[in-house]
Amino acid sequence: MRPFIYQKAGDPSLAIQALASDASAKLPLTEAPAQALAGGTTLIDLMKLDVMRPSRLVDINPLSASWSEISTEGNHLRLGALARMSDVAAHGEVLRHYPVIAQSLKLAASQQLRNMATLGGNVLQRTRCTYFRDVSYAQCNKRNPGSGCAAMDGFNRTHAVLGTSDACIATYPGDFAQALMALDASVEVTGKSGVRTLPFAELHKPPGSTPQIETTLQSGDLISAFVVEGRWPRSIYLKARDRQSYEFALASAAIALDVQDGTVGDARVALGGVATVPWRAREAEALLRGQHLDDGLAQRAADAAFAGASTRRHNAFKVDLGKRVVAHALHRAAMMEI
Ligand code: FAD
Ligand code: SF4
Repeated sequence: MRPFIYQKAGDPSLAIQALASDASAKLPLTEAPAQALAGGTTLIDLMKLDVMRPSRLVDINPLSASWSEISTEGNHLRLGALARMSDVAAHGEVLRHYPVIAQSLKLAASQQLRNMATLGGNVLQRTRCTYFRDVSYAQCNKRNPGSGCAAMDGFNRTHAVLGTSDACIATYPGDFAQALMALDASVEVTGKSGVRTLPFAELHKPPGSTPQIETTLQSGDLISAFVVEGRWPRSIYLKARDRQSYEFALASAAIALDVQDGTVGDARVALGGVATVPWRAREAEALLRGQHLDDGLAQRAADAAFAGASTRRHNAFKVDLGKRVVAHALHRAAMMEI
C-alpha cells in the first residue's frame, strides 16, 4: 500500500487550497498528487489497482450540507454535486419533470454503490478499459502517455466507435452524463478564482493526442452543482448491456423531445457506451426537428447518429446495437403520455 494523507475539508476554500498545490498545477487533474474524495467508489478502486497514486485525499463530504441539495424551484433544476445518485434517482420532482435523469441514475451500478456515489464523482469516473485498469499492461497512452495503446489490436469489444483517436479508443463509461448532455445542462465549478458556469458539453475532452487529459478542469477546481433550464417530461434513458443490472452500457441513448400534434419541435439525442466522451448526436437531432416522428424517421436519425463511427476488430456490433437503441428510445419517447 502507498501511504497518503487524509484530510477533511470543512469549507470550499480549504478544499480548493488543499487541491491546488503547485505540484498539482503542472499535471493533468487525474495525475495530481491531491485528489478530492467524494463517495470514493471510483477513486479508492483505482488506488487499490495502483492506477491512481495520490499522496493526499481531500475529503469533501463535509461540504454536503450545501452541496447535496436538489432544488426544482422556478423552471429549473439544480443538483448539488455531492447529492447521492440514489437520492436524485428517487426524487419525486426529478422523476416527474426529468425522467431521463432519474432513469440514467437508476440504471447505473448497484443500489449500494448509488447510495454512496455522488453526482460529481459520477461524471468524473474513469474508463473501464481493461488495459487502463491493469498496470501489468505497459501500453496505455492514458495511464502512461506515449506508451501506445494495447486496446487497438487487443480485445476491444467494449471500446468506443465515436470520438476515437490514434492514441486512445477508451469508452466514457457513465450514464448520468448522457442525460445532462441531452438536457443541455450546465456545470457549476468552484475554483481558485470563484464560481464559474460552463456548458456540460465542454467538461469532457476527446482523447486526441493527449488522452491523459480528460476534462477542462484545472487543479483546485471542484464541481459544485449541475443546472438544467426548463422541464423535460418527455425524456427517456435506454441502456443496452450484457446483463440487466450492475453493468456498464454497451450502447445507450438519452432522448429529450418536445412534440406538438405529432410533430417534433425540439429533439435532443445523446449517446453512451459507444463514444470516448458523453456524445451529442446533433446530426440526428437536425433530421428530427419539424418532422412527424415515425419508424422510418427514427431509423434515419439513428443512422445519422452513427454515420461517423469507426470500428475495430471486436466492437463493430456496437454500430448496429447503438442504432437500434436510438430508434427504440425515440419511439418510446414519442409514445410517452405526458
Ligand atoms: P469518487 O470515487 O469519490 O471520485 C471520483 C473522481 O472524481 C475522483 O477523481 C475525485 O477526485 C473526483 N471528484 C469527486 N467529486 C468531485 C467534485 N465534486 N469536484 C471535482 N472532482 C470530484 N457508473 C455508471 O454511470 N453506470 C454504471 O453502470 C456503473 N456501474 C458500476 C459498477 C461498479 C462495480 C462500480 C464500482 C462502479 C460503477 N459505476 C457506474 C461508477 C460509479 O457510478 C462511480 O464510481 C461513482 O458515481 C463515482 O462517484 P463517487 O462519489 O464515489 O466518486
Ligand atoms: Fe489506454 Fe485508451 Fe488504449 Fe485503453 S484505449 S489502453 S485507456 S490508451
